Amino acid sequence: MGRYDFDVVFIGSGCGAAPAAGNLAQAGAKVCVLERGTWWGSLQGKQPYPEGLIELAKHLRGLGWSSPHIKKYININKKAGLLEAYIVNGYIILIPCGVGGASLVIGGFLDKPPRDIYDHYPKEITKEAMAKHFDNVAKVVEPAHAVKNTWYMDAIDKSCERIPGITAHPQDASIWWGSGPDKDEERVNAFGCRQKNNDYSGNELTGDNRGSKNSMDITYLQLVLKHGGEIRDLAEVTGIRKAKAGYLVDYTNLSNGSKQTLSAAKVVVGAGALNTCRLLFASRANTVDGLSKISDRLGYKWGFNGDRIGLKYVPNAKLEHGKNPCLFRYHEIASDKYEFDFHQFACSSSALTWLGPLNLLTGKIMPFLSLSREEPIGRIFPAGEVVDIYYPSQDCHRRANIAQKKIAMEVDAIGKPISEEERQRKLAKIERTGAWKGIGAVHPTGGCAMAEGIKEGVIDHKCEVFNYPGLYICDASIFPIAPCCGPHFFIMAHSDRMSKLMIANEK
Ligand SMILES: Cc1cc2nc3c(=O)[nH]c(=O)nc-3n(C[C@H](O)[C@H](O)[C@H](O)COP(=O)(O)OP(=O)(O)OC[C@H]3O[C@@H](n4cnc5c(N)ncnc54)[C@H](O)[C@@H]3O)c2cc1C
Repeated sequence: MGRYDFDVVFIGSGCGAAPAAGNLAQAGAKVCVLERGTWWGSLQGKQPYPEGLIELAKHLRGLGWSSPHIKKYININKKAGLLEAYIVNGYIILIPCGVGGASLVIGGFLDKPPRDIYDHYPKEITKEAMAKHFDNVAKVVEPAHAVKNTWYMDAIDKSCERIPGITAHPQDASIWWGSGPDKDEERVNAFGCRQKNNDYSGNELTGDNRGSKNSMDITYLQLVLKHGGEIRDLAEVTGIRKAKAGYLVDYTNLSNGSKQTLSAAKVVVGAGALNTCRLLFASRANTVDGLSKISDRLGYKWGFNGDRIGLKYVPNAKLEHGKNPCLFRYHEIASDKYEFDFHQFACSSSALTWLGPLNLLTGKIMPFLSLSREEPIGRIFPAGEVVDIYYPSQDCHRRANIAQKKIAMEVDAIGKPISEEERQRKLAKIERTGAWKGIGAVHPTGGCAMAEGIKEGVIDHKCEVFNYPGLYICDASIFPIAPCCGPHFFIMAHSDRMSKLMIANEK
C-alpha cells in the first residue's frame, strides 16, 4: 500500500478506535491515530489530571451551546482540554478529550447488553458472536471489582435487599485494584506502563494520576507505538474526502495551527457519537470530493442510553466521598419482558470534596447514574458551529428516578432508622414521581447506526460505511439502539470484531 501515507488512519483514540488500532498495528498494518486532545497522567510523565475545581475548570476544552436562538461553540482550552461540555436544549452532555478518549475519565464500569438489544442489529451480530470479542477485550482491560467494602458500599447492599425487584451486584471495572486501598502498590502492566493500585479516592471521573485505570493510552495504544505506528495528538480532524483510491483526512495541528492532510487506504472514524456525527455532517456537505453519498439516515437513532443523572440528598448517611471508588455496585432492575430492565449505579466522587465549606452539603449528596432502556427515537442534526438534538423524555427516566429515590431513602434510613409506617409513607410518595428527563448525559449513542441496509442505517455489520468501501466507523455512534448498560465494553468488543474482519480480509 506504498501509495498512501498510511494503511489505516484512525480519527480519535478512544474506546472505539484504540482496540482496532492496536490490533491492526500488531498485525502489521501501518497505522496513524489522529487525536485532538493531549496525553494525560502524571505517572506516565504526561500532563497531570486536574485535581480541584479550579484546575478542572482550566481544563475545559470548550462549550457548545445550542438553543433555539443561539448556536455557538466557545473555545476555552483547545490544547489542554480534558472535557468538553455541550448544552443542547437544556441537556448537558459531557464529552472527553485526550489520547485514550473517554477511557481516561470513565468510572470504568464494564458490563454487557441484555439479549434483546441484539434484535436491533444485523443478523451477524448476536450475543454468541460477540462473546469472543468481549473475551479478547477483557484480557486487556482486566475487569475486576473493588476488594474492600466501605460503609457506603455495605449500605447500598442492605438497602437493595429491602427493595423488591432491585438487586445490587459488585461491579466489575477496568481498574487495577491491587490488594486494596490500605496498601500502596505499583506494577508495570503487560504493555510496559507504570500503574499504582486504585486508592479509593474516587478520582476516576476526572482521571487518576495513580494510573490505576486500564485505559486505552496505557494498553491498546501502546501496541500502536510498539509496532511502529504513529499517534499524533493535538490533531483535530476537520474533514474526510474521497480520493481516486482511498481517502484523504484533513486535520489541524493544534500545536502550531497548520493545516495538514493524510492519505490512507482505509479510515476509521472513532471521534465519539456527537463529534463523529458532526464530522460526517461536514464531510457530507462537501459536494466536490466529500462524502455526499452517505446514508440519509445519518443522525437517526440518536439517544443517551436512557441516562438519568440524579443527585439525592441523604442527610443521615456516611457517604465519605473521596474514600470510596467511584462506581462499586450496579443495581439491576428486574423485568418480566427482558433479561434485565436497566442498570444503574450510585457513585462516589472526589469532585464532591472540592467545594471547601460547601463540602458539608456535598458530603450528603448521593449521585446516581441510571442507564435505562430507551426507544431509539432521538435525532441529531447539524446546526451551525454545533448540533441540535431531538430527544423526548421517556418513561425510563421516570422509572430510573423512582429507583434512585428508593435506594437513597433506604440508605438514609440506615444512618437514621425510621418506623415502618414512615417508610411506607415515603415509598408511596416516591411512587407518585412524575416524568422528568434528567439533567445530563455521559453516554451519547447512535447517529451512525449499524444496519442491514442503507435505508435503515449508515454502516454494515463490519462497521463499513454504505457506499464507501474502506471507510469505517467504530464508536458510540454505531449503536442502532442504546445498549442499556455501560457502553464502553460493548464499543471495544465491536472494535475488536471490526479489526479482526479487516485483518482476515487482507490475508
Ligand atoms: C465521565 C464519564 C464517565 C463514564 N463512565 C463510564 C463507565 O463507567 N462505563 C462505561 O461503559 N462507559 C462510561 N462512559 C461512557 C464511555 O466512556 C463512552 O461511551 C465510550 O468511551 C465512547 O467511546 P467512543 O469511542 O465513542 O468515544 P471516546 O472514547 O470519547 O473517544 C473519542 C475520541 O475522539 C476524539 N475526537 C473527537 N473529535 C475529534 C476530531 N475532530 N479529531 C480528532 N479527534 C477527535 C476525542 O477527543 C476523544 O478522545 C463514561 C463517559 C464519561 C464522559
